[in-house]
Amino acid sequence: MNITPIFDKKKRPIVIAGPCSAETEEQVMTAARALAKQNIDLFRSGIWKPRTRPGSFEGVGTEGLAWLKRVKQETGLKVTTEVANTQHVFDALKHGIDVLWLGARTTVNPFSVQEVADALKGTDIPVMIKNPINPDLGLWAGAIERIYKAGITKIGVIHRGFSYHGETKYRNVPRWELPIELKRQFPDIEIICDNSHICGRRDILQDVAQKALDLQFDGIMTEVHPTPDEAWSDAAQQITPEVFGKLVSELIVRKKSSDDIEFTASLEHLRGQINEMDSELLALLGQRMKVAEKIGEYKKVNNISILQPARWNEIMEEAVAKAKIHDLSDGFVASVLQAIHQESINHQVAVMKGEAV
Ligand code: PEP
Ligand code: MN
Repeated sequence: MNITPIFDKKKRPIVIAGPCSAETEEQVMTAARALAKQNIDLFRSGIWKPRTRPGSFEGVGTEGLAWLKRVKQETGLKVTTEVANTQHVFDALKHGIDVLWLGARTTVNPFSVQEVADALKGTDIPVMIKNPINPDLGLWAGAIERIYKAGITKIGVIHRGFSYHGETKYRNVPRWELPIELKRQFPDIEIICDNSHICGRRDILQDVAQKALDLQFDGIMTEVHPTPDEAWSDAAQQITPEVFGKLVSELIVRKKSSDDIEFTASLEHLRGQINEMDSELLALLGQRMKVAEKIGEYKKVNNISILQPARWNEIMEEAVAKAKIHDLSDGFVASVLQAIHQESINHQVAVMKGEAV
């Protein structure tokens, strides 16, 4: 494969910004004028919005393309929008959109990706491909291959995180090891972090953008709106041009050495394992406390004291003996167990008193 960069090789980070959705001509122009002053590399705005449920704002449609054309004429900014079918591609090309992107809900579906690829044949417009909504690297790579086979050589990727059914501070969990592995498979591809869709909230946008740069991403794509709280889509994650300017100015670009990618990939892989183990440990501790509470109930019914020194000594001795087998120090195991034991006592005291823990 001979993928070529979409952006100027030297400038890092690449900065892409603009509203989640084009809402009105005035909103688009206000955002674009403010961002043009910040010398961003590309202005983004969704015209056709893939919403999970019908009835949400589904984008202004083709009308908005004329607004993006005006952005180009008045500010000189290059513009990008999401396309998901043949008609979108044709309309976007007709209106002189500079770069197209495939959204997460398109990358996930090879039929849709192929439709877009077929519509692109004979053009040389740059295309950015977002990761699929589920953590499936094959689908992401497959979309790159389909677009490349259609004759497009300027291809980039956008990491926007993956949906996850559990408690997390993110809207879409980053799973950093996946974009890093993609970059290993496609070393020439530029990789952009869409911190807005990863975070889904404003307060962690800076941290996620910085982490992406520290992992050698080429740039960021952030949703910027003149009045974020009033946005018709994704209000909670959009920021004003002013806040965005501050975010970019506070980013630290660290030096990279080209042969670091293997190291970074392994590190992320191992950290992923550690995160999973920590979650399992916490879940187990939670379960252990539930069992301790049951014991507390029996003690209450039978009027027995909470602290049973003989039992506690037995637990300690057994654990310290096992510590050696697992290459853990006695002191460490003793202090972990003491903390667990204290927490069990607290739970049992609460049970005795009939209180919540
Ligand atoms: C967007 O960029 O506004 C969008 C719809 O993103 P995604 O495809 O990542 O959900
Ligand atoms: Mn959005």
